[in-house]
Amino acid sequence: MLKIKDLCASVEEKAILRSLNLEIKPGEIHAIMGPNGAGKSTLGNVLAGRPGYEVTSGSVELKGQDLLEMDPEVRAREGLFLAFQYPVEIPGVSNMELLKAAVDAKRQHEGKSELSAIEFMKMAREACKAVSLDQSFLKRGVNEGFSGGEKKRNEIMQMMLLEPSLCILDETDSGLDIDALQVVANGVNAMRSEERSFIVVTHYQRLLDYIVPDFVHVLAHGRIVKSGDKSLALELEAKGYSWLEQEVL
Ligand code: ADP
Ligand code: MG
Ligand code: MG
Repeated sequence: MLKIKDLCASVEEKAILRSLNLEIKPGEIHAIMGPNGAGKSTLGNVLAGRPGYEVTSGSVELKGQDLLEMDPEVRAREGLFLAFQYPVEIPGVSNMELLKAAVDAKRQHEGKSELSAIEFMKMAREACKAVSLDQSFLKRGVNEGFSGGEKKRNEIMQMMLLEPSLCILDETDSGLDIDALQVVANGVNAMRSEERSFIVVTHYQRLLDYIVPDFVHVLAHGRIVKSGDKSLALELEAKGYSWLEQEVL
């Protein structure tokens, strides 16, 4: 699904990712943990092709294709999903309109016909139900007064509608209460399949009780410094990251 080789990337001339290697097979869930400022969000942003992130060397393949050659829109159509965050409210655009545009773009790329408004509404209502968002949410403006929990549920809803093959969830658990956390985890678990992979960035072991990863990686100083299974997350929770600095660096 994803093959990252010796990836180096910088932001504003500052090297953030330093020779990062990671390989993800179809169906796998990889959790990425690590200290603040390690480069976890940068990795997601680089993979999604967000502006401002410059790849200085290394390679990334998505399903055998050169990801770094693709425009951000193409990456999304090819099945890469990074929950979009809107920095500002977009006046006059509803959630539903934005979601439908994204779904239609992907369907067009796959040679499928555009969904009718009725077909789309049916899908969107089901997705709302799955993440316990009220239907009225669809008619609301993009980011118009979203609570933290609503933003996160919205991310999962986007993911359900877009049916990506590689889902990147960056701290989807931050600021969620236990009920919301469970809703998010249920959404992810419902989408687990042999063809779909996940990168779950999290600070807390707790999320991994609900979304059980196949692998846990520690990202520190811009690269993966340790990998293991779920027990590594428990060890990190108990011991923090400083022991790794001594062991690995
Ligand atoms: P993490 O998600 O692991 O906490 P980030 O990837 O957000 O870490 O940040 C890694 C480093 O890159 C930090 O030093 C941060 O200040 C810097 N950085 C990330 N994005 C930007 C940006 N858009 N502009 C300037 N610096 C950035
Ligand atoms: Mg951070
Ligand atoms: Mg981050």
